[in-house]
Amino acid sequence: MGGMNEIRTTAVVLAAGQGKRMQSSVHKQYLLIGDKPVLYYSLKAFEDSIIDDIVLVVGKGEEEYCQGEILDKYGFRKIRAVICGGKERYHSVACGIRSIHWECGYIFIHDGARPFIDDAVIDRAFEEVKRSRACVVGMPVKDTIKIADEKGYVESTPDRSRIWQIQTPQVFEKPLIAAAYEKLLAQENRLSEQGVTVTDDAMLVETFMNVPVKLVQGSYQNIKITTPEDLKIAEALV
Ligand code: C5P
Repeated sequence: MGGMNEIRTTAVVLAAGQGKRMQSSVHKQYLLIGDKPVLYYSLKAFEDSIIDDIVLVVGKGEEEYCQGEILDKYGFRKIRAVICGGKERYHSVACGIRSIHWECGYIFIHDGARPFIDDAVIDRAFEEVKRSRACVVGMPVKDTIKIADEKGYVESTPDRSRIWQIQTPQVFEKPLIAAAYEKLLAQENRLSEQGVTVTDDAMLVETFMNVPVKLVQGSYQNIKITTPEDLKIAEALV
């Protein structure tokens, strides 16, 4: 728990995706690693961290299942709200942010599908956001990256040392990220007509708020469970 003068923190944990690339009838956040669901591990990491409160964003109609089979079953105590997400990830994030009606200085937005987030990464991100107002966790790429042209030929080879793969959490001052999401929702139709796809939170702060976003070292274990191979890797990591 935050002390008297500490700024309070909320984690928004996202679990409202359909997980289509998993080719499973069970949504990926409920698949088991060892004997516990993927989502258990992400929630447990925040439960045992410096985070004060947690908002869990789930798919429509999954609230009760989550409450019974995860929150009650494993005795989570920091979950302040279980809410229903939206069509795209950014809709789910916006719902999560709007649901926070308690004291909150910083928001940690995290993919529930990243079960191996740990205390060291959460602490590093917290220290950084206090300095920079906005930061995202990621790791330098290991492979060479190439930019392709429309015909599938190599257009260029960017300097690998400056390319990061972005993970979550993405951490922001609450008013900053709340304003960025309100701007996005106000311009949603125009942006989708222009073919802009919103794949993370930081890009909103970069574009709408003109605030630089600092990169923080995550971990190579902080993988996102997306396809069946990832579940095998997760079994080995747990
Ligand atoms: O689809 P992707 O793997 O990028 O999703 C990242 C995270 O966002 C997952 O934890 C997923 O459950 C969540 N999500 C969501 N609402 C959506 C789409 C994705 O909460 N509409």
